[in-house]
Amino acid sequence: MTNKIIYLLMLSFLTSACSKDSTSSISTTSPVATVNITVPDVFKKIYGASSITSDGTFITIKSNGAPDHKSSYYATSNTLYDNFSGLTFGGYNFSKNPNSIGEKSYVFKIPVNPKVATNHMATPLGAIGVSLNGVPFFNQYAGPNQPLAGEMVSFDRYWGHPAPTGQYHYHVEPLYLTTVKVTKSSLLGFLLDGFPVYGPEENGALVDNAKLDAYHGHIAVTTDYPAGIYHYHITSTDPYINGSGFYGSPGTVSQ
Ligand SMILES: [Zn+2]
Ligand SMILES: [Zn+2]
Repeated sequence: MTNKIIYLLMLSFLTSACSKDSTSSISTTSPVATVNITVPDVFKKIYGASSITSDGTFITIKSNGAPDHKSSYYATSNTLYDNFSGLTFGGYNFSKNPNSIGEKSYVFKIPVNPKVATNHMATPLGAIGVSLNGVPFFNQYAGPNQPLAGEMVSFDRYWGHPAPTGQYHYHVEPLYLTTVKVTKSSLLGFLLDGFPVYGPEENGALVDNAKLDAYHGHIAVTTDYPAGIYHYHITSTDPYINGSGFYGSPGTVSQ
């Protein structure tokens, strides 16, 4: 540790000690400023987040990624355990995969003012965004160059499932959100580039892939963005949430 750092630490201690003295009129500037800027209301819709903060450039969203709804992938001792059988997404007969739901420590950092990217990055495997209940969105692949179709049988009642890592996730419409918590035309979350994700309906009509661009979105007015914004739509056919990569420059996620 250099003398300069020790000096700064001492200065920091002294100034914070001084600030406790209510008679002091000396205004000091901390050498390590913590910026805490108001989070726009639209991000507060992510009700499953354990914290949502902003530094003015990025919104930081923390979540444990465990669903707030019933799932066949909770332990039988859990009140959210669901003994589901029958048809799931795509008309497949539900067949449980060997994984179970784990609590994670996601930290999503997404741009507060999303901008279109010059070069559109492909979405990675793993979390590509966060939904309202804090569960991550995954892309349209089951693994590297592996189509999703083989995995659909393992989507639970609400069309999510866990990875071998315990990460519960949605590759398709999060049915609990669109049928219980909000509606099929509501905001459902954000991708890592900061652009919002909406459900499969808009203005009372189904949105199909033909109405969307290569990245699976379009620019239009929404309830949350009356001035209009680029946004993704989740549709019932491949690629479901995102197409050929992020429309904007993605932030980061630690998972
Ligand atoms: Zn999956
Ligand atoms: Zn739209």
